[in-house]
Order: sequence, then C-alpha cells, then structure tokens
Amino acid sequence: ATPTAIMVGTALGAESGILIKGGESLERAHHVDTVVFDKTGTLTLGKPMVTDVWTVAGVAREQLLAAAAALEAQSEHPLGLAVVTYAKKQGVDIPAASGVEAVPGRGVQGMVNGAAVRVGNRTWFLEQGLTVPDPVLPAFEQAGKTAVLVAREDEVLGAIAIADTVKPDAAGTVKQLRDMGIEVWMITGDQARTAEAVARQVGIDNVMAGVLPSDKAAKVEELRRHGRVVAMVGDGINDAPALAAADIGIAMGTGTDVALEAADIALMHGRTHGVVEALHLSRATLRKIR
Ligand code: ADP
Ligand code: MG
Repeated sequence: ATPTAIMVGTALGAESGILIKGGESLERAHHVDTVVFDKTGTLTLGKPMVTDVWTVAGVAREQLLAAAAALEAQSEHPLGLAVVTYAKKQGVDIPAASGVEAVPGRGVQGMVNGAAVRVGNRTWFLEQGLTVPDPVLPAFEQAGKTAVLVAREDEVLGAIAIADTVKPDAAGTVKQLRDMGIEVWMITGDQARTAEAVARQVGIDNVMAGVLPSDKAAKVEELRRHGRVVAMVGDGINDAPALAAADIGIAMGTGTDVALEAADIALMHGRTHGVVEALHLSRATLRKIR
C-alpha cells in the first residue's frame, strides 16, 4: 500500500478505537485466514461470578468457602476474586492464609489454620492423586461454568461453580469472520467441557482447551507451521507471548498493559467486533492501491 493509504487506514481505525502500530501491521492483517480468540476476558466479559457451591457429605458450605476464600484473597486470578466476593456476600469469616502460591493454569495452594489447602481444577487434582468424587462437575461444565475444586490435606471438600457471561457481540463477530472465509479458534486454560460449551454459545467449532499459559504461544506457532496466517486476540498477561507469536496480535484495550505492549493492534473498547473492523480496514486499505 502507498504511505498515504496506510495513513488514511490508520487514521480511520483510530476513529473507531482501533489502534494500529505501524503500517506493516495493516498490510499483514490483510493476509489473515485464521483468528484465535482467548476465552476469558476476550470472548467473555471476564467478570466471573459464583453460581453454585457443592459440598461432599459432612462438609458445611461455610467451611468450604472459608478455606477457598482464604487462599483466593491472595490470588490475582479473576476466579479468585469471584470466590472472595461471594464468600463475603454470604457473610463467611475469611481466615488468614500463609505460604500462598499460584500454580499457573492449575489453581492456588497454601496453609489455612494449620492445614494444607488446594483450590483449583480437576486436571491438577488428578495429577496430585486426589480422588475427585464429584457427580456434579459435568453438569457445571456442560453449562459452560468453570468448576473449582477445594481440598484440605488429601480430602476433597467440594466444588464451586463459576460462570462468566459471553460478550453480547461475540456470536455475531464469529459469524462475520466465518462469512469472510476465516477459520475461527478458541484457546483457553479452562477444561474441555466448559470451553466447548462456551464455544457452542458463540458458534466456534475449533477449541484448544486445557492449554497452560506457557503453551499458548506454541499452539499459535503450530497453526502457523500448518501454513495458516494467524491473528491472535487476547487480553491477559498470559496471552502476551501468544500475541507476539502470531502474525498479528490483537489486544483488548480493556486488558492488561503487558498484552497491549505485545500486540500489533489494540481495540480500545471491549467489543470483539473490532476484530472484524480491523480486518475489513486492512482489506480496504490494500485494495486502494491495486
Ligand atoms: P484462561 O486461559 O481461561 O485465562 P488460566 O490459564 O488463567 O485460564 O487458568 C486455567 C484454569 O486454571 C482455570 O480455568 C482454573 O480451572 C484454574 N485456575 C487458575 N488459577 C486459579 C485460581 N486462582 N483459583 C482457581 N482455579 C484456578
Ligand atoms: Mg484472558
């Protein structure tokens, strides 16, 4: 494209809250044939809320919530905030925790009232040799909810179901991308069943679930090795390496600074539709010089 076309394209983007770093980004975006969306905070609002608490026989809800909230009070994960907010609303007395440690893509662990407590997903619990006796997890997950398990020492106390709302424009965005001939993927650290339920809600068929934060970039590189020209859309600190690994990294302006820095394009509003607008803009800009 001519420098003038690029300038016009960039200015038009800025008017609708699409910040494009450098003319090459606009040119490269024109070749994109695959868009990978992060789930939490990108396709969903990223404001998860507790919907259900399930305990094994003999365990009080209050007891489970106190143990979980004690650890989550020291976590920076949105799921942690959901647990703490809910526990407070239920009037639970949240005890102090020590030695709290986040396990990326897994959960959080630490000491509460002299006992080792773990709060996290099934994959992690199974890896740790904990028995997951729960009959309700599949139901939570089929509803697109994240099931967070709680254990004290080697005893599983129960699970907390947490739901995040899909953004109102997500399904429309996916449909428009597909109509443009683009293959759409979802990538997430969440479990397969939860991820697939959310994917179904927005019309995505291609799902990469249970992906550790450190593996997101490798997944993007794998698609590129298969000859795809990939735009990765994300919002979190975890997503920054994947944004950098993609042909085009697109960050939600509502996300973290780290993601913004790693991106080629930033959407200054939280709407997923900005992805369609950015690709249209790129196509229009490049067409002008043909
Ligand atoms: P995403 O890719 O959806 O942003 P993450 O990689 O941050 O997800 O986390 C993946 C999974 O790890 C979560 O769905 C959850 O099961 C578990 N997890 C991570 N951190 C926590 C936490 N603080 N409390 C409970 N579960 C957690
Ligand atoms: Mg995210």
